[in-house]
Amino acid sequence: ANPDIDSVEMIYTDMGGVPRGKRLRQHEVLSVYEIGRFFPGSITVVDITGQDTVETGLVWEDGDADRSMKPIPGTLVRTPWAGDNAAQFMVDFYELDGQPHDLDSRHVLGLVVDRFAEMGLTPALAVELEFYLLDPKRARDGSIRPARPDYSHQTPQMVEVYGLRELDDFRPFFDELYETCDIQGLPLESAISEFAPGQCELTLRYKPDVLRACDDAIMYKRVVKAVAQAHGLEATFMAKPFAEQAGSGMHIHVSMNDADGNNLFASDDPEGTPMLRHAIGGMISAVGDCFALFAPHANSYRRFKANSYAPVAPTWGVNNRTVSFRIPAGPAASRHVEHRACGADANPYLAVAGVLAGIHHGIVNQIDPGPAVVGNGYDRDSSGDDNPPSNWFAAVDRFHGSKLMREYLGERFVDMFTIVKRVEQDRYFGQVPSIDYDWYLRNA
Ligand code: GLU
Ligand code: MG
Ligand code: MG
Repeated sequence: ANPDIDSVEMIYTDMGGVPRGKRLRQHEVLSVYEIGRFFPGSITVVDITGQDTVETGLVWEDGDADRSMKPIPGTLVRTPWAGDNAAQFMVDFYELDGQPHDLDSRHVLGLVVDRFAEMGLTPALAVELEFYLLDPKRARDGSIRPARPDYSHQTPQMVEVYGLRELDDFRPFFDELYETCDIQGLPLESAISEFAPGQCELTLRYKPDVLRACDDAIMYKRVVKAVAQAHGLEATFMAKPFAEQAGSGMHIHVSMNDADGNNLFASDDPEGTPMLRHAIGGMISAVGDCFALFAPHANSYRRFKANSYAPVAPTWGVNNRTVSFRIPAGPAASRHVEHRACGADANPYLAVAGVLAGIHHGIVNQIDPGPAVVGNGYDRDSSGDDNPPSNWFAAVDRFHGSKLMREYLGERFVDMFTIVKRVEQDRYFGQVPSIDYDWYLRNA
């Protein structure tokens, strides 16, 4: 025990990808490491609005009984933004008999990773996350604005993509972010300014431990938000904050190692090995079933627009940013695929579970991905049956009915995720937003 530390947060990631937990005094922490800490099962079925799904009656089935949170090894780190005496660690959820809880998204991802282990395969992962830095002061009408000093909604904006000026403007934020990532052992690789004012992207170095790579993604979002707040900014990973500006994606880079750590996608052929093509074939055939995991919220669907760098069809290609599944240029040894469909608002554990379920399905069944797109992937018709669902309701229904998702993620998880989403949908459409009055009040 470190005598300097007094406040320690234990963090559990719910289905929506939101960190929840408790702040403990230091003397409590040891007992959590020894015996765990009890929490009601309903914490697994909290929706994005922060309310649990009590009205469905589901949490009462077992009297909302307690289960046990246990620390994830290697996650105990200082949280410098919260002061010199603060730290955090991550936990996951277990039944009282020690079995993993079947609604814990980290365990759900673990089930998919185990399927690869049975075949002697180890997927390796790198995650890129885009986000906006906003002015935390909302306008009176609730509208938001990027935190750029010269930003105006009226005039066309200078595009700052790869602009170093933008990184300079936010230098104090980035300096502290780097320092904090170092303290937390987060493998931050690079920062760029993205396609819109105030939009940035940070990339994390790849890890051959998929679960830990996703832990990093959760922690990284937390760090970005916390450091932004300390600099008078608000960071958001919502998928499409501005209708007219780029959305924020979570790109997932996957390669596949054998038991000796050799990359089985490595090849001099720019289209990679047969195994890589099967992986892509599997992702294409599974993308519709997984889409509720990749685009979990109403807002997520606003991001998929032609010519926006977000994909609109289940396409693949080499060195091509207009497709869903891109094989980036690079040395033969690091050949891999970038999955470009997920929004930055997705739960990283669940999004990656969907990505890997598709890859596993494709490798086992040797699914042919069809020809690669050459040229502009946005030219392709995006209305066919094999396309991902274009709206939230269709995506959740498809997920619920998916044999593939049930096989990989578990029956109960699929049912409960669907219920949580349907509660969110009811709440969302239970509102009458102002556009209804603008359009329909007088004219209907
Ligand atoms: N912002 C784009 C998206 O929503 C991605 C841009 C890029 O290629 O980095 O996925
Ligand atoms: Mg990007
Ligand atoms: Mg990318």
